[in-house]
Amino acid sequence: MDRRDEERPSPKVLKVDPLRPQWEAVEEAGRALREGLLVAFPTETVYGLGAHALKAEAVARIFIVKGRPPDNPVIVHVGYLEDVKVVAREVPKSALLLMARFWPGPLTLVLPRSPAVPDITTAGLDTVAVRMPSHPVALAIIRAAGVPVAAPSANRSGGPSPTRAEHVLEDLGSDVDMVVDGGPCPIGVESTVIDLAGEEPLLLRPGGVAREELEAVLGRPVRPGRGEEVARSPGTRHRHYAPRAQVIVVSGPELEAMARRFMAQGKRVGVIATGPIPLPAGCHLRVMANGLPQYARELFHILREMDHLGCDVILAEAVEERGLGLAIMDRLRRAAAR
Ligand code: AMP
Ligand code: MG
Repeated sequence: MDRRDEERPSPKVLKVDPLRPQWEAVEEAGRALREGLLVAFPTETVYGLGAHALKAEAVARIFIVKGRPPDNPVIVHVGYLEDVKVVAREVPKSALLLMARFWPGPLTLVLPRSPAVPDITTAGLDTVAVRMPSHPVALAIIRAAGVPVAAPSANRSGGPSPTRAEHVLEDLGSDVDMVVDGGPCPIGVESTVIDLAGEEPLLLRPGGVAREELEAVLGRPVRPGRGEEVARSPGTRHRHYAPRAQVIVVSGPELEAMARRFMAQGKRVGVIATGPIPLPAGCHLRVMANGLPQYARELFHILREMDHLGCDVILAEAVEERGLGLAIMDRLRRAAAR
């Protein structure tokens, strides 16, 4: 360890009530963001690593601290509807419909970008991704900051996303200036990203709002972007969500035999299942008996936990790709990709 590391102060950790965050903490975090510092805070999806979205130097630090590839744009978070006009030069009718129904909430809209947004925030694209989060802590802090806040997930690029303040401290520690601890995130997977800047709406990333719900509001199909179209969302190209252990997505009926096979090879095995299954002692089993919301909420925490337990392999039960299941399967497949 060099001397600079020893001298680097730990981040200030502010513990807040997730439902009624104390205003002193909110003010302090908001001021820090406005002044260009890095502040991690809980949102309903995952913990975000926030910086002043219109200050290039502040956003540059996000990329450095996360080790994020510079071609992967970050989502800009706003506290009020009017602020969308600060970052987007055009707000189509489809965006207004979706904002009215899903904001604040886990939906990110890709819109034509306004010149106020620096290149680094959008990775040089002509579009900007915008969202208004519903978590009382996130919303209060962004409003207190009084500026749009760029906030990707507060983890090292490539690893499982952070859904608790401990995950942020584990990954980023003293590289951030402040961590606001508002307990575990209630949804646990990232926002849905929909591209509204082109002729037809495209689903760039499944997430907290189901594709079926978007289609119901827009009254038209929302198909997933393909090839070149998704290349417009460069983040989807990079390695994502992967723990140290090898993740394998397995159908329910195959779980038990597969777990036994790996254990017979002397591997340490973790299993995430949607219901109870008989497994040999020594296998780490987590049962998501309360359905997809529980699976989504606990997934990233379990991936981290299983790494801490020294698992070599994590077998995760596949779920149907409907509703929240689409986002869960997306994260599992990416976590499994090597
Ligand atoms: P993260 O902030 O890590 O949750 O990731 C944000 C996601 O939104 C990534 O997949 C980005 O590629 C995507 N994204 C951000 N800005 C844009 C944009 N302007 N156009 C398309 N996708 C975007
Ligand atoms: Mg991320």
